Amino acid sequence: MRSESVHAHSLWIGGGWYQPSDGERFESIDPTTGTPYASYAAASAVDVDAAVRSSTDAVDGEWRELSASARGALMIALADRLGAEAERIAETESRENGKLIGEMRNQATLVPDWLRYFGGLADKIEGRVIPVPRPDAFNYTVREPLGVVGVITPWNSPLLLTVQAAAPALAAGNSVVIKPSEVTPGSALILAELATEVGFPAGVINVVTGLGPTGRALAQHTGVAKIVFTGGAETGQAVHVVAAERGADAVLELGGKSPNIVFADADLDGAAAGVVGGVFGAGGQSCTAGSRALIEDPIYDEMIERIVAGARALRLGDPFDHDVHMGPIATASQLNRVQRMVTESVTRGATVLCGGQRATVEGLPGGFFFEPTVLSDVPADDPIAQEEVFGPVLTIFRFRNEEEAVALANGTRYGLAAGVWTRDVKRAHRMARRLRAGNVWINLYRAMTYNSPFGGYGASGNGHLNGVDAVNEFLQVKSVWVELSEGVRNPLILGS
Ligand code: NDP
Repeated sequence: MRSESVHAHSLWIGGGWYQPSDGERFESIDPTTGTPYASYAAASAVDVDAAVRSSTDAVDGEWRELSASARGALMIALADRLGAEAERIAETESRENGKLIGEMRNQATLVPDWLRYFGGLADKIEGRVIPVPRPDAFNYTVREPLGVVGVITPWNSPLLLTVQAAAPALAAGNSVVIKPSEVTPGSALILAELATEVGFPAGVINVVTGLGPTGRALAQHTGVAKIVFTGGAETGQAVHVVAAERGADAVLELGGKSPNIVFADADLDGAAAGVVGGVFGAGGQSCTAGSRALIEDPIYDEMIERIVAGARALRLGDPFDHDVHMGPIATASQLNRVQRMVTESVTRGATVLCGGQRATVEGLPGGFFFEPTVLSDVPADDPIAQEEVFGPVLTIFRFRNEEEAVALANGTRYGLAAGVWTRDVKRAHRMARRLRAGNVWINLYRAMTYNSPFGGYGASGNGHLNGVDAVNEFLQVKSVWVELSEGVRNPLILGS
């Protein structure tokens, strides 16, 4: 049921609601109706500073004093608590980003897996004894938390992307300050509230809601050891520069222009479903959206028919309606950007095979809907073939052989994901080897789990989340030397 009251939220700092230093606020807008859903505090640099100080106290105090097993147990308790609140989280997220309630429910149900996996890893972070070539010295390493980690997230999968970044950081013993997207701040506040309920020490998870300047203040803060940024390429690069200027590092999970490559020998039913679902799932608002379809020449016309039929069959509407396949675009400005990119590509010669316009949905006149759109006759260097649209827009290309497919697939600055559809096992692995992408899916699309590494090549980012190695992004290695002999070394000569 769509409640019409607008809830007003504060920040979450130090284990409780925190009144911001000034009264600046902003509203999240329900994109299905175009009306306000909730009101949030816009954290100033002063509030960000308070959050970072609180998280520093936590990481230097109570959180560090807990055993790794106890830390992991708290993460697992939080997983259980979040699982019990999956419906509330899904509804909040669907109201704020307009994605299907079924998808947000699925995500909210899966998020606890990340906390269980990384919670279980917390007491398996070990150092090494190094066999140094000095018999009378003992050398070992310990892996220690970095300190406070800043987590900046986008709107499209709000809690999943927050926990994907925060869980390995927490398992490694860090505290986190989360800056959620201004479009979808709700679920991060629920996360922090539930963490406090299950016993997380105050300050281990703080949330500063706000706009771009709040994120910038977090990236600039000298008390933040590392930033994990998930979002657009340009913003990510700007955040990276700001962090680097003060000597801090950043994990960047950015956008993509991912190809779905269909060979003539593929199971065409599966390939057509993969191409249509790969780009129109979540209305194209997915970092891994398969926004380019590369089709081998002999099946080009047939695949176009299948893809266009699939796109035309999609029902737009209220994301809470179970018969609906695609909800609205998350924001009015994003809707305008999608329209602009499509219109400009048409003026440059693109052919619209279906869609291409803002859509009206009966009973939802204020909703930000856009028709599922398929374009052809687009040069490979056209902006719509090179840049992320982040909307329901597919561009189709023809290729004649594997070489051409690889050149087209690798021909953008991004490298996040790629799909390959073929029954030829040798070709499948050859393609996987040659594609410049962090994730390659063979005869499936958009698969992702807590235990398989996820990251991008090129402008799609750096660093990896998910999988055991993700904790290494949030650890520093200390080398400890111990003298075992009774003698006195000459410290003026290195290695004596
Ligand atoms: P943006 O880059 O616009 O924003 C991401 C986050 O950065 C938001 O919280 C935003 O705040 C904040 N921000 C904005 N300006 C600054 C700044 N100067 N300094 C610090 N933080 C800032 O991305 P979107 O929210 O529009 O999300 C869509 C993008 O996210 C797409 O490009 C998509 O591909 C990418 N993405 C990547 C994923 C991956 O894992 N590779 C996964 C999902 C999405 P505010 O909202 O207030 O502007």
